[in-house]
Amino acid sequence: MDDETLKITVLGSGTSTGIPVIGCRCAVCLSSHPRNRRTRCSVLLSYGKYNILIDTSTDLRQQVLREDIRHIDAVFYTHCHADHLHGIDDLRGFNLRKKGSIPLYGSTKTLAVIEHNFGYIFNKSEPQSYIPRLELHPIHQAVKLFGLTVTPIPMWHGHLKTFGYRCGPFAYLTDCNAIPEESLKLLHGLELLILDGLRFTPHNTHFNIPQAVEMAKIIGAKQTLLTHLSHEVDHPIHDQQLPEAINLAYDGQHFEYKINPSEMNI
Ligand SMILES: [Zn+2]
Ligand SMILES: [Zn+2]
Ligand SMILES: [Zn+2]
Repeated sequence: MDDETLKITVLGSGTSTGIPVIGCRCAVCLSSHPRNRRTRCSVLLSYGKYNILIDTSTDLRQQVLREDIRHIDAVFYTHCHADHLHGIDDLRGFNLRKKGSIPLYGSTKTLAVIEHNFGYIFNKSEPQSYIPRLELHPIHQAVKLFGLTVTPIPMWHGHLKTFGYRCGPFAYLTDCNAIPEESLKLLHGLELLILDGLRFTPHNTHFNIPQAVEMAKIIGAKQTLLTHLSHEVDHPIHDQQLPEAINLAYDGQHFEYKINPSEMNI
């Protein structure tokens, strides 16, 4: 693998229910089109021999088996909602392969919720072979890791503060319905933006698709993908109705960008 290639894999592009929604008989949930089947939101960044996961979705196990991911070297959390977090126990499989702990990065609040909600993981009296071994690293600003710079992008998700992340030419902004001016300044010159675009009807904690399209135009990445998609979104129909350079994400999508390490200070 070329050390200067940043690879991005869309592990999951679905909203919190996953698509199909349990018990739903709508056209999208009944569709056999592969792009209408969505696991919960997550992406993988690969650089050199390192794999960085953004979020541990409820579908983590299924996603890493599908993509044949054999190791995880760090996890960055966007926020503490269950759909982005509850696959955390499956990190144990990677501990066993790595024979070591995995660092978790996120806001102080997100990591505090993880520590509280998954107390058994951080309880030192539990037998170590039955639990994931994870280290909590609260962050407030850019982190350098494995030759990459990962910059948190503060956003609003209703009343909850979330982190998007920028890594060189790529930014991942899921679970948001407002992006502060200060954060927009961190998003110039992107090749690829993955942005929350839940559905067409309004929602009080997610951009809907018309709002996401407006935000994508403001940010001005060369290519934008909308993610966290609900069952209102019929991929083969709606993808072609979006403006140029804006598309719908789908599970298993891959991108590669050449990175000049000297440009990683963004
Ligand atoms: Zn979510
Ligand atoms: Zn449905
Ligand atoms: Zn959320």
